[in-house]
Amino acid sequence: MSGADQYSVLFEPVQIGPVMAKNRFYQVPHCNGLGHLRPQAEAAMRAMKAEGGWAVVSTQEAEIHPTSDLSPYSENRIWDERDIPALRLITNAVKDKGSLAAIQLAHNGHHAQNHLSRAPLLAPSEIALETAYPKQARAMDKSDIREFRKWHRAAARRSREAGFDIVYIYAGHHMTLPHHFLLPQFNDRSDEYGGSLENRVRLTRELLEETKEEVGEDCAVALRFAVDEMLGADGMQAQEEGRAVVELLSELPDLWDVNVADWSNDSATTRFEPRDGFQSSYVEFVKQVTSKPVVGVGRLTSPDLMVSLVKKGILDFIGAARPSIADPFLPNKIKEGRIEEVRECIGCNICVSSDSLGVPIRCTQNPTMGEEWRRKWHPEIIESRGKEDTALVVGSGPAGLECAMQLARRGYEVTLAEAKLELGGRVLQESGLAGLSAWKRVADHRIYDLQQRGNAQLFTDSRLTAQEVVELETPNVFLATGATWRRDGRGKSAFRGVSMDSASLVFTPDDIMSGVVPEGGRIMVYDDDQGYLGGVLADHLAQAGQEVIFVSPASMVSPFTELTLEQTKVQRSLLEKGVRLALSQALSSVAPNQAILRCVYTGREQTFECDSVVLVTQRARETTLYDELRGLADSPLTKLELIGDAANPGLIADAVYAGHMAARNLERDAGDIEREFFRREIVSLENV
Ligand code: ADP
Ligand code: SF4
Repeated sequence: MSGADQYSVLFEPVQIGPVMAKNRFYQVPHCNGLGHLRPQAEAAMRAMKAEGGWAVVSTQEAEIHPTSDLSPYSENRIWDERDIPALRLITNAVKDKGSLAAIQLAHNGHHAQNHLSRAPLLAPSEIALETAYPKQARAMDKSDIREFRKWHRAAARRSREAGFDIVYIYAGHHMTLPHHFLLPQFNDRSDEYGGSLENRVRLTRELLEETKEEVGEDCAVALRFAVDEMLGADGMQAQEEGRAVVELLSELPDLWDVNVADWSNDSATTRFEPRDGFQSSYVEFVKQVTSKPVVGVGRLTSPDLMVSLVKKGILDFIGAARPSIADPFLPNKIKEGRIEEVRECIGCNICVSSDSLGVPIRCTQNPTMGEEWRRKWHPEIIESRGKEDTALVVGSGPAGLECAMQLARRGYEVTLAEAKLELGGRVLQESGLAGLSAWKRVADHRIYDLQQRGNAQLFTDSRLTAQEVVELETPNVFLATGATWRRDGRGKSAFRGVSMDSASLVFTPDDIMSGVVPEGGRIMVYDDDQGYLGGVLADHLAQAGQEVIFVSPASMVSPFTELTLEQTKVQRSLLEKGVRLALSQALSSVAPNQAILRCVYTGREQTFECDSVVLVTQRARETTLYDELRGLADSPLTKLELIGDAANPGLIADAVYAGHMAARNLERDAGDIEREFFRREIVSLENV
């Protein structure tokens, strides 16, 4: 069977209420940090999904009223008719490419913070904001509920006016009023909206009925519902009340979009949930209880798994947020039998981190994500080279691999030289640590692509000197030589480093990632980087049976991982493995078999017994080759550029992005690059 035949079931059309989806690929609602503040970028990003073959493309949460104001996060907004033109940009762009446009209407109850609108916060019951801000929501009385239902109905009407084909009621992720009413942990009402499940589901039922009444002839009405909270008996469970909700509402929505709560469980990272399709066991009952089409998610990237989910009668639609971010062209690549070309999501949640920061989305695997409008980047198309030319890329980490791949795609003759025996740089090293094996896909995808091309030559075991670079007579040289972890303790809390007795056993993450095992037991992992790596290393060493003490000036383990929805899981994992934590402690000095720690608040010192210290502090950029080449009196090079971690140590996503940018910019006029930087959506002052 050819690829297309084997997967033909995925390309069958499916009816959703009054509208028809052209295939089974469904981009479920997901945030992207563009939203109402950057409507052109939002529309261009959604249009790219439609171009890539997704039959349904959804917005992110669309706030329906000023009492649901998610500022400073920029989601979609449909407060009144003035929001319609921006939303119409999305529907026009998506429908122009032959896909259906869906909108996820949302009232976020006490999950909204109303920092911009300063409107009162509403909830089923008296409840405090979940964030660290001393503010409470009031329990909605009957007139509040009536008002809310009116707002929702009006938003549905505006959605149809804006051209949407599918309108969502959203009861998931612990994020919205319908979900809050459903769950006893947020709802202790004693009226007809509280108590029994029939009562708690009443609001969702009313919203479904009213939305259908309002727009049901033209638009499909979808329900996004979390069937399980993954709290065991302490929360809603798929086989208990989760199932009962689907039974109660079974035929009311035109489509069931089902997942698990909260968001950290739904968007679980590969570090904590390595299985693709991990939600199937929770949602497999749904199709037995309703005749309506069902969409489900769970980092679905394997077409074989997709086919089996459809054939086994578990899902009608292959839902995706992250796989559609990593590869907007996933459906088309499967359709055209180009499965090896799929850029598989690695489940790192860097996409989520941008939403958490309130900035436009970025993705480790797909550097063009979020850049469709402002830089006019297309994930599959790149400008061909202007003139026949050759390029040398030194270093095969994420920056070097991406740069080489894109240069080769542009048609240049590319040479990639790597000092080590294997390609991959930091990706190879980090993916060897506990929980990070899926990250290797970043290197695998690019190496495979380069190997298919006749115009790319890859050399390992080739540490290049400046003289060798010159002798290669390649005019365009990109140095992606990376960075190494420092051994002197210099970091956020010690600008001048940490005093160390020469006899003490000090290691760096590079040592551990190269397989060095510190001897003597009692390893102190000192994390002044406060990103993800310190926590990963502590976990890795503890899993290997070592006694680990985790020390950090931060007040929690790996604070960065709050942005990727992992922090609780990271800290729990260390505690469960018996790792001792010493938080809010900076490292003052290291002596044989002991470390002196200093409380970051009081400065009080204490001594900790340990046999070795792993310093996760800061990285030193590897610029030797760059400095030498730059220092040449008569350089024959027309282009010499330092990229990736060698230029700016950061995330793997940053390195990939830098590699991509460098390849795109070759032959571009430096003045243009400087002038444009990127397009911005500037507030118009015309009518002031
Ligand atoms: P980035 O994240 O910026 O891509 P990495 O640290 O992952 O950087 O990768 C840098 C790679 O460059 C490493 O694999 C390293 O072995 C390689 N490298 C460094 N200096 C040289 C050199 N002079 N010649 C060839 N390879 C080099
Ligand atoms: Fe997947 Fe990571 Fe990209 Fe998000 S950032 S889509 S998790 S690869």
